[in-house]
Amino acid sequence: MDCIFCKLANKEIPTNIVYENDLAVAFEDTNPQAPVHVLVVPKKHVESLNDLTNDDGTLLTAMMEAIREVVSLKGVKESGYRVVANTGRDGNQTVPHLHWHILGGRDMKWPPG
Ligand code: AMP
Ligand code: ZN
Repeated sequence: MDCIFCKLANKEIPTNIVYENDLAVAFEDTNPQAPVHVLVVPKKHVESLNDLTNDDGTLLTAMMEAIREVVSLKGVKESGYRVVANTGRDGNQTVPHLHWHILGGRDMKWPPG
């Protein structure tokens, strides 16, 4: 399957990896929207939140663990951050491989655009 995030996650394409565990990888977004902008993706291909099942509990725990590690490593744990999973057309998801954006290092406005 020709999926860019699968290739980044399995290291077929080199990228700036911030953290990884058995099931998830975190890497720098190439078009950062904040001083800290890291993506957390599952190593297995999952298209979006819509495609998770009740069997994905271990995967979700691993992704949440990666998020907690990234915010500590990037120094925004205490200052705060935003975690976003754009989903589908109206969510403006452009890469069809599930990913959480971790954004921080500046005041995140609300509501988002
Ligand atoms: P979304 O629009 O929510 O699907 O987010 C996709 C994100 O992936 C965007 O923020 C892009 O800047 C980012 N992105 C696309 N290609 C790459 C890549 N090769 N390495 C790192 N980030 C990427
Ligand atoms: Zn994929």
